[in-house]
Amino acid sequence: MGGAQTVTGSKSLIEADGKKILIDSGLFQGLKHLRRLNRDDFPVDPASIECVILTHAHLDHCGCIPVLVKNGFKGKIYCTLPTKELTEIILKDSGKIQEEDANRANKYGYSSHTEAKPLYTVADALAVNNHFSTHNYEEWVFITPNIKFQFLNAGHILGSAMVQLKIHDKTIVFSGDIGRKDPLLLYPPKKIKSADYLVLESTYGDREHDEMDLKKSYF
Ligand SMILES: [Zn+2]
Repeated sequence: MGGAQTVTGSKSLIEADGKKILIDSGLFQGLKHLRRLNRDDFPVDPASIECVILTHAHLDHCGCIPVLVKNGFKGKIYCTLPTKELTEIILKDSGKIQEEDANRANKYGYSSHTEAKPLYTVADALAVNNHFSTHNYEEWVFITPNIKFQFLNAGHILGSAMVQLKIHDKTIVFSGDIGRKDPLLLYPPKKIKSADYLVLESTYGDREHDEMDLKKSYF
C-alpha cells in the first residue's frame, strides 16, 4: 500500500484469520505528486484494521498513523519503547508542520483547494499516543492464539526493529529499514536464519556504499 515504486509511504497489509494487520503506516514524502497520495482515501477502512506493527520512528514509516486514528482506527500500535518515545515527538512535529503549511497556503492564496486543510493537526497527532503498546526485542506478542510476532533489532535507529510474524505455521519477516552490519552507536542487526516470506526494504539494494571509516567521518 506504499513504499513500492517510490521510497516513502511504507505500508504493508496482511490479512489472516479475518484480521487485518498493518506493518508501518508511513507518510509519502518528496515531490507534490507523491505528497498528494497522502490525501487519497485509505485503501481499507481504518476502523477495520486490527493493529499496526511499527518498525521504527522515521516519518516515512509512522507519519500516516494520525490519519488512521482520525478516520476510526481503534486498535493497538505495537512498537518498542524507544520507537514510541521518538514517534510521539516526530508526529507532534509533523502535525505542527502540516498546520503551518495549510496556514501559509491560505494566507498567500496558493492552494489549489478553496481552503487548504492540514492532513492532520497537532491534536490529531497527540491522539495517537493512547494506542501504543510497547514490547522488548525478542518478546513474542500474541495478536490471536495463531498469530504472533516478535521485534528483532534492526540496528537502523534507536528502537528500530524487524518484524518476525508467525501465522499458523508460516513465518513472514518484514525487514523495516536495516542498519549497517557494524554500526558505531547501535547493536548490529539481528541475523535471521529462516523465513517462508521476506518483505525487504531495498531502497539502496542496487547501490554499493563506499567503504569509509565511520569514526573519522563522525569525529
Ligand atoms: Zn528509516
